[in-house]
Amino acid sequence: MGLINVNSFVAGQWVPSDDSGRRIANAVTGDPLGLAGRAGLDTQVLLDHARLKGGPALRAMTFHERAKMLKALALELSKHKDELYRLSHTTGATTPDARIDVDGGITTMLVYASKGRREMPDGHVYIDGETEVLSRGGTFVGQHVATPLKGVAVHINAFNFPVWGMLEKLSPALLAGMPAIVKPATATCHVTEQCFRRIIASGILPEGAVQLVTGGLGDLLDRLDYQDVIGFTGSAATALKLRSNPRLIENSVRFVAEQDSLNASVLGPDATPESPEFDILVKEAVREITAKAGQKCTAIRRIIVPEAMLGPVGDAIADRLSRIRIGDPALETTRMGALASADQKADVLDKARRIASECRTLTGDPDRFEIDGADRDRGAFLPPMLFVCDDPDSAEVVHSTEAFGPVSTLMPYRNVDQAARLMNRGRGSLVASVITHDPEVARTLVLETGAAHGRIYVNNRDSAGEATGHGSPLPHMLHGGPGRAGGGEELGGIRGVLHYMQRTAVQGSPDILSSITGTWTKGASKPKSAAHPFTRTFDELSIGDTIEAGPRAVTLEDIEHFAHFTGDTFYAHMDEEAARANPFFPGRIAHGYLLLSFAAGLFVEPSPGPVLANTGLDGLRFMKPVSPGDAISVALTVKRKTRRTEDYGEVRWHVAVVNQNGEDVAEYELHTMNAYAA
Ligand code: NDP
Repeated sequence: MGLINVNSFVAGQWVPSDDSGRRIANAVTGDPLGLAGRAGLDTQVLLDHARLKGGPALRAMTFHERAKMLKALALELSKHKDELYRLSHTTGATTPDARIDVDGGITTMLVYASKGRREMPDGHVYIDGETEVLSRGGTFVGQHVATPLKGVAVHINAFNFPVWGMLEKLSPALLAGMPAIVKPATATCHVTEQCFRRIIASGILPEGAVQLVTGGLGDLLDRLDYQDVIGFTGSAATALKLRSNPRLIENSVRFVAEQDSLNASVLGPDATPESPEFDILVKEAVREITAKAGQKCTAIRRIIVPEAMLGPVGDAIADRLSRIRIGDPALETTRMGALASADQKADVLDKARRIASECRTLTGDPDRFEIDGADRDRGAFLPPMLFVCDDPDSAEVVHSTEAFGPVSTLMPYRNVDQAARLMNRGRGSLVASVITHDPEVARTLVLETGAAHGRIYVNNRDSAGEATGHGSPLPHMLHGGPGRAGGGEELGGIRGVLHYMQRTAVQGSPDILSSITGTWTKGASKPKSAAHPFTRTFDELSIGDTIEAGPRAVTLEDIEHFAHFTGDTFYAHMDEEAARANPFFPGRIAHGYLLLSFAAGLFVEPSPGPVLANTGLDGLRFMKPVSPGDAISVALTVKRKTRRTEDYGEVRWHVAVVNQNGEDVAEYELHTMNAYAA
């Protein structure tokens, strides 16, 4: 079989690699497999295409349109999983390993598609936080907003997740409205290229939204500007080299790095060999040592257990590891495949030797292990290796050396304080797990080690059935960590999208802010609706449309009736003397829920119409008590409209209830589902 020519995709064209490209070997057989990259790549063409074509096309779409695009793309890619699994075998990955990569990437894209539609507006401006009132009269207010950066996202990915690595970075960037140039790691870039071909063939993304560079990036980074972002995953050494580029420093180019990490897992002092937590830790540790042959940035490198548990935990993990079948990843019986390359194997062996210099070996001899269906000396195979560090306080190498393979070190602790100190010796990690059934242990460890970790995963008998795993970064949750882990953040829901946007504090009048955000801002104009808003379809309603109703007097009889009808006979509504004794109340007062009900009674249009359902309310505040004899009025204002399905959209209404003196007594946001057609 000839070499796979791994193409780049530049300015809408597939560009083959040439003889100057980097060589890729089959991780299982060691045979030459492919060629990636070419000399003389015109990087300005890539940047211009992204900035002039992809960026404007993406920014013309709303967040919801981009979210729908991501969903369509994810569904399209799911049709091609099997070919990606098969190709992944050449990188040493078993089918379950490939699922983590391929299905994990597709799921991440689906989650972003869903979050984009649920948590972002159907517009072009993202509203970040609440309106800030900056003036006494409310005529000058502030609002933080975010808009997409106008440059290009350059994604430099690691070899261990050729598909997930690409999709987890593309999803938030495209949702933000930023085009991307993907640079996969050479060792596994043929898998990335195959997935990328499916993306392009789908025709779902606008022209220029994504480009691919295999092999070297040439001088591309030297041409980046302040509107560009680099998202990097790989080694600390490369990250340091790239982020020191004077051009990047001079132009304050955002550099989001995810690099080495000496993740720890701690067994709580409450665990015994009979407790469920013991088994949970053993299972998690074995999974993290063997999945993807330990080539996961989140894998457990240090297993920290109570002194008395050192022997039992070591025996249990070693026993399970001895039963792991290593071999050709295409075989169904294989539990652990090969590392991604001979270079990677050599690097892991070198790091394992360094770790062994201050530890004893519990299991795993790289010169003596069985493999199925492949040649041990030609493929990048290694056995799982477990070391024990008896004196972790004085050890150095185990806390600073990441052997990026099936390698982990067990170490004892005397008390929770020492466990926390050992966790923090990693000097910044992506994730730590705490396996305990004692809430106090979990709390102490989170307080003592939170500052050094991007994610803390606490698991025990109550959550084990549904826990997602120490090593799984989830699109909903932050992925990244301080210090050695690179100081970056990815994912974390919409937080991950904001890395590709500029946050701007906009100040102005409420009308100006309403126009910018597409959301009615308190204090902005309230044009009176000629027809009741409940009689108007979703499309007929405009932001700011208002109906005012009232006044309605609130009597003591109303309060009594409501109290006995609902059973809410709280003293503040029923007992004049007790109510007066309360510093908040002038005497008996109306129930807050009575006011809400009266407000609805005032603003509702009862006939069947486009309002299909009241789906909830947010931000309810009672600001001033209402006494018997007061009279309330209500204003209902269209605050925001969001298309939801083919048939209906969500309308958020601002509801303000005032008393006879015009003083605010209650305020909330009401949600309704409104039909597009009458
Ligand atoms: P590298 O840092 O060598 O490579 C990471 C990415 O950077 C690859 O795409 C690589 O491309 C690219 N790259 C390297 N040099 C440059 C450059 N000068 N300009 C532009 N891009 C560049 O890491 P590896 O993937 O080789 O992994 C090495 C080690 O990194 C692992 O053994 C492990 O210790 C660590 N690592 C940590 C991860 C984590 O998330 N914690 C994930 C993966 C790796 P190319 O492949 O073409 O060189």
